[in-house]
Amino acid sequence: MSKFKCLCGETISDTHYPRPTAGAIVKQMDEEKFYDRVSASIAEFMSAVAAGHRDQWIKSRFGDQYPKDLDDASIVSDLLTAGELDFHVLIEECESCGRLHVQELPGSPQSVSYVPDTKGYQGVLRGSPGRAEEGSKPP
Ligand SMILES: [Zn+2]
Repeated sequence: MSKFKCLCGETISDTHYPRPTAGAIVKQMDEEKFYDRVSASIAEFMSAVAAGHRDQWIKSRFGDQYPKDLDDASIVSDLLTAGELDFHVLIEECESCGRLHVQELPGSPQSVSYVPDTKGYQGVLRGSPGRAEEGSKPP
């Protein structure tokens, strides 16, 4: 969505990451396609690694300019990100009025805004420290 004006007059910008006013949504109708595509990409990568074709697969998937010294977790992360770009719609919360601006389609400059029942900024897109920390711990 880059930079735009909220209906209240506040300028919303996505020039830095991460922001406590931003997030992404996978539409339920796209969820299966998103997970199928990402799972298939990861499975292809794992098969290429097992077959000894890791470097060739990375080159064919990401091109010549892609870094050659990344570990497998970084490759999988990039596969997830690629899937997100195709299926996630962005959501931004206005820090002034609390409106939620939901991107209509992935990559679209168009969004639809929603005003909260409770007036003002709600902080609904702030991180969830407890759950995020649980998820980052190895089993
Ligand atoms: Zn606003």
